[in-house]
Amino acid sequence: MARRVLLAQTSFLGDVVLSTALARTIAGAWPESELWWLVRPEAVSLLTPTFGHDRVIAFDKRGVHRGLGGLLATSHALAKHGFDVAIGVQRSLRTSVLLARARIPMRIGYAGSPGAWLYHRRVAKDGAHARDRLIGLVAGLGIQVPTELPMPHLGVAPESARRIEERLESEGVPPDQGLLLVAPGSAWATKQWPAAAFGQAAARLRTLGNDRVVVVGTRSDRPLAREIARLVAEGGGDTIDATGGTTIADAVAWIARARLVLANDSAPAHIAAALGRPVVTMFGPTVPAQGFAPLGDRVQIVERELACRPCSRHGGNDCPIGTHECLADLSPDEVVSAGEALLERAVSGRGTA
Ligand code: SF4
Repeated sequence: MARRVLLAQTSFLGDVVLSTALARTIAGAWPESELWWLVRPEAVSLLTPTFGHDRVIAFDKRGVHRGLGGLLATSHALAKHGFDVAIGVQRSLRTSVLLARARIPMRIGYAGSPGAWLYHRRVAKDGAHARDRLIGLVAGLGIQVPTELPMPHLGVAPESARRIEERLESEGVPPDQGLLLVAPGSAWATKQWPAAAFGQAAARLRTLGNDRVVVVGTRSDRPLAREIARLVAEGGGDTIDATGGTTIADAVAWIARARLVLANDSAPAHIAAALGRPVVTMFGPTVPAQGFAPLGDRVQIVERELACRPCSRHGGNDCPIGTHECLADLSPDEVVSAGEALLERAVSGRGTA
C-alpha cells in the first residue's frame, strides 16, 4: 500500500467531480493511505469538505503558476510532500512533466497520453464512461477494481451550509420549504439552454411543491438570473438570486439543499449527481455517449435527436451550423416532464430522496 497518493486533476470542475470515484476506489482498497489532490484553484473548495483542507493543492496553470517558472515552483513544492505515488488523471504533457520534476517515485498515467513516457506505469484508457476510465487507472496500482464501481461523491462544507441557511432565513424561507435550484450558466455558449426556457420551466416546476426558486452561478450569469426571476414572478413565484460572490463550496451547499436541480451539461449537474440530488440536465452539442454525463438514477438528461449532434467534445462558443437548434428548440415542456418524473419518484421513494 502506498502511504501518500497524489491525484493530479487540473481540468474542469465536472471532471474533478467524476474523479472522486477514483479517489473512493483507492480509499476503499487502501483505507490507511493519504489521498491528496492537485487541482485548479476553483476546485479547491469543491474538494476540501470531503478530503480535508490540507490535502488539496491549487495549481493555477493559467495564472500565477503559468509557464516554466510556475511549473518548476509547483513541482518543487510537490517534492516536499513526499508522495509515494502520483496519478495523472488527464492526458496532459504539463501534468506528466510536473509529476516527473517532483521526483515522485511511482507515477501512473494513461498510455498514449502526451508525456506518457514519463510515467512508470501506463494504463490503457478503456471504458464507456469517464468514471470507468478513471477507475481503470488503479490497475497501475495493482488494486482490484470492485465489481460495483463507486459513484462520484462530494461533501458539503458546514460553514457554507450555515451561510445558505442564514440567507434563506433572511429571505423568509422556512426550513421545510423546498428549493428549485437553477444553474443556467455554462463556460461554453453552445451548451447554454436559453434563460427564458429555464425561467418557463422553473415557473411551472416550482408550483408542484411550492418551492422557492434559487439561481446560482457566476457574476456574469446575473442577467440570466434576472430573466428567470422575471418569468417566475409572472407565475406568482419568488426567486433568490445567488449568482456572483458565491464560492464553489457555497454553490455545493445550495445544490445539496435543493429538492430539484435544473442545469446545463455543466459542473452543477455533476455536483448535483454527486450529492444525490435529483437533476434535470439539458444536453446540446455534446451527447451522453461521449462518456462525460452525470451519473446516477437521480439524473434525467433531456436532449433532441439531431444529425449534427455531437458537434464537439466540450462545447464551443459558436454553433457550427449557426442555428443552435439543439438547445434553442429544446422545449421547456420536456424539462418539466423530466422534473415531474424525478419529483414523483422522490415522493414514492423510488430512486430519489
Ligand atoms: S451544430 Fe448542432 S449540436 Fe452543434 S451547437 Fe449547432 S445545433 Fe447544436
